[in-house]
Amino acid sequence: MFCTKCGNVVPENASFCPICGASLKSTNQPAPQQAPAPTYTPAPAPARESNTMAILGLVFAFIVPVLGLIFSIIGLGKAKELQGEGHGLALAGLIVSIVELVIAVIAVIVIMVTVPSIMSHIPSYY
Ligand SMILES: [Zn+2]
Repeated sequence: MFCTKCGNVVPENASFCPICGASLKSTNQPAPQQAPAPTYTPAPAPARESNTMAILGLVFAFIVPVLGLIFSIIGLGKAKELQGEGHGLALAGLIVSIVELVIAVIAVIVIMVTVPSIMSHIPSYY
């Protein structure tokens, strides 16, 4: 083998180069084990964020169906980000909002149809 420092031929199992005195053992030894990769401490599981939009959606569905509809749609989108958190709530809010809107529309139509006919009948009583 050859000395890594001076390049002279040295005995095979020599610890030091007889010519320059360089340590051969250290260069011959396998590279020291790589420092163990930093163990990634798993980020603390985030406290499951509640889907506020879904909750608002369901609440508003009963009060202001249009807002309930909007919040529920946002809540549905949020639920995807939150691994399904609040998906059921958002869906319920969406359904309630739609049902209420449909009822409201029907009610408006019924009123628009019936009120004029009632009004037109009132004078006939006099
Ligand atoms: Zn040497």
